[in-house]
Amino acid sequence: MAAVVNPVVGSLVWVEDPDVTWIDGEVVEVKGEEIKVLCTSGKTVVVKVSNVYPKDAEAPPCGVDDMTKLAYLHEPGVLQNLRSRYDMNEIYTYTGNILIAVNPFIKLPHLYDNHMMAQYKGADFGELSPHPFAIADAAYRLMINEGISQSVLVSGESGAGKTETTKLLMRYLAYMGGRAAAEGRTVEQQVLESNPVLEAFGNAKTVRNNNSSRFGKFVEIQFDQRGRISGAAIRTYLLERSRVCQVSDPERNYHCFYMLCAAPPEDIQRYKLGNARTFHYLNQSNSYELDGVDDSKEYIATRRAMDIVGISSDEQEAIFRVVAAILHLGNIEFAKGKDIDSSQPKDEKSWFHLRTAAELFMCDAKALEDSLCKRVIVTRDETITKWLDPDSAVTSRDALAKTVYSRLFDWLVDKINSSIGQDPESKCLIGVLDIYGFESFKTNSFEQFCINLTNEKLQQHFNQHVFKMEQEEYTKEEIDWSYIDFIDNQDILDLIEKRPGGIIALLDEACMFPRSTHETFAQKLYQTFKNHKRFSKPKLSRTDFTICHYAGDVTYQTEFFLDKNKDYVVAEHQALLNGSKCSFASSLFPPLSEESSKTSKFSSIGSRFKQQLQALLETLSATEPHYIRCVKPNNLLKPAIFESKNVLQQLRCGGVMEAIRISCAGYPTRKQFYEFVDRFSLLAPEVLNESSDEVTACKRLLEKVGLEGYQIGKTKVFLRAGQMAELDAQRSEVL
Ligand code: ADP
Ligand code: MG
Repeated sequence: MAAVVNPVVGSLVWVEDPDVTWIDGEVVEVKGEEIKVLCTSGKTVVVKVSNVYPKDAEAPPCGVDDMTKLAYLHEPGVLQNLRSRYDMNEIYTYTGNILIAVNPFIKLPHLYDNHMMAQYKGADFGELSPHPFAIADAAYRLMINEGISQSVLVSGESGAGKTETTKLLMRYLAYMGGRAAAEGRTVEQQVLESNPVLEAFGNAKTVRNNNSSRFGKFVEIQFDQRGRISGAAIRTYLLERSRVCQVSDPERNYHCFYMLCAAPPEDIQRYKLGNARTFHYLNQSNSYELDGVDDSKEYIATRRAMDIVGISSDEQEAIFRVVAAILHLGNIEFAKGKDIDSSQPKDEKSWFHLRTAAELFMCDAKALEDSLCKRVIVTRDETITKWLDPDSAVTSRDALAKTVYSRLFDWLVDKINSSIGQDPESKCLIGVLDIYGFESFKTNSFEQFCINLTNEKLQQHFNQHVFKMEQEEYTKEEIDWSYIDFIDNQDILDLIEKRPGGIIALLDEACMFPRSTHETFAQKLYQTFKNHKRFSKPKLSRTDFTICHYAGDVTYQTEFFLDKNKDYVVAEHQALLNGSKCSFASSLFPPLSEESSKTSKFSSIGSRFKQQLQALLETLSATEPHYIRCVKPNNLLKPAIFESKNVLQQLRCGGVMEAIRISCAGYPTRKQFYEFVDRFSLLAPEVLNESSDEVTACKRLLEKVGLEGYQIGKTKVFLRAGQMAELDAQRSEVL
């Protein structure tokens, strides 16, 4: 991205500014390599010529709807364009085919009403303002016309608007593929109503978003021959389990807990509930209510959505009974028991919650107590019963709560899938991916590690699509193109995923070896990756490690890596719930096969996640991808505040800056020869008579209209960014 080549007094420029990233101004003096700029803030600065960028004096004040239309494509120009559009509530902007969506943090209902959907239906891409509906429409039509499956990948950091955007895409697809006069529960209705159900159980208030999805989601919508929705499948990824037992101010636990505490009196009585403030799993944080949300209404709405997706009222009763049981479970405290190092419920209150939890789980209270306070160890010769001390009993209690909750969530997903139903005949699908963006916090643990692995994989997919596809096309067309290189991240993926020897493999080894600790795990990493370009050991730490990700360096704390990677269910918990008289609860813990009860002492969350990602990437590779990058303009979650520095960082992480660079350096517009001649021959009609074939006609035409820098391929003509617009302008003059 070029700096001003020959700055002269009076030219408008952008200057780097530590506070606002870039500020515009006018050159007032040029002295060799240094120039003096009077900024619009009133400040005068002296800067190096190489550090200023030209400002387009003729740029429309309201911005352009596609970054590739900017006269000068550089960071300040891109930012300025987004900002001026944002100021006018134009929250969507294209970068070629990528849609950038800046979260308005304010409802813009007119943007999404049925009238709007009708407008986008069948409109040419780029004809109307940028919009998720336009992306969905393009995907739908490509699927119908070309018979190729499509996918829309929505990414961005927490609170950027991914889930809201995903819902808009799903609504549009339901609109296009729905049956107008269908009765009862339609597939598309069920697809849409799966959202509130999953949000009730999988979303929570966090610092970054009041309705943050704590899981990743890929929704695959299947279509029949006539383009009607005929089935759907939802896959979810990595629900955050720790939230069930641990929340800190000002965050909340999963929405469903608060909804249940605000349920109608008969439900409250049935489940022996009360104020949310009386439950340990909720009152570790002081946050109970959400602005603008009435939990009692949400409870009713969630029940209604559950009806629509096909969850029977008996099942709903069981689901909420189990949710209530988890709350009671959390209120059981432990004190020292009679034996040394033993434990028992602390007081009458704890006994009450234990009995209530057992009643709601429909299992024996004594069996529940034993499963929390004792472990049975089976050796070759004998069976030993060992007491747990009070701290270990708490850990055991929380492990049970987390396991039950995560199985409940998986059950919901399976249930929704089976009741919507799959269409085995469907040849075409549109997948919509709503998944956490790159994360780098003050402390980063196993969750961030998995999330960032996801983003590395998706970035590679993006790279391959945008860059490798371009390159292949140019090679195939035999046009010369000095290819600008892009950052390939295969080396990071190898570092993490390689088997054997990658970080996940080493973590699994550590988890299987009884004496490992996070210290020995960290040492092993340091030894193994001593010379790896993408790996380093922070100077002042003995157990942290840093990975140089495509989006920046992230330092991970290994403390809980081993624990968090282990996914095993305590045998006592398994036996307890498997024996529940509630068929729903016992179905969450189906009997283990002989084989697995002996061998699967440990199953690795990291490895399983890696396999899920692999499967996702395989699905995506069989589709034509579309990308939406969501941007969070500020961390206050407030409208009308645009923090440039923050936004720029997100554009870099999402590969937007890189894609812009590539798209502009290459030939973003390509047309078949006949198409091109058809469209533009009226600019020089004589070429049609002078030429014997379309290639010659095309070449002559291009010479006549005075374009430069284009390329002639084997089947197509390749134009540089903006050239098509130039020709169209000439054409409309003639017309
Ligand atoms: P993410 O899924 O990326 O974490 P969400 O989609 O949940 O973020 O969006 C966070 C919040 O931002 C929403 O709850 C909503 O208040 C607001 N928001 C997001 N997109 C829009 C939009 N298009 N219009 C209005 N508000 C939005
Ligand atoms: Mg979300």
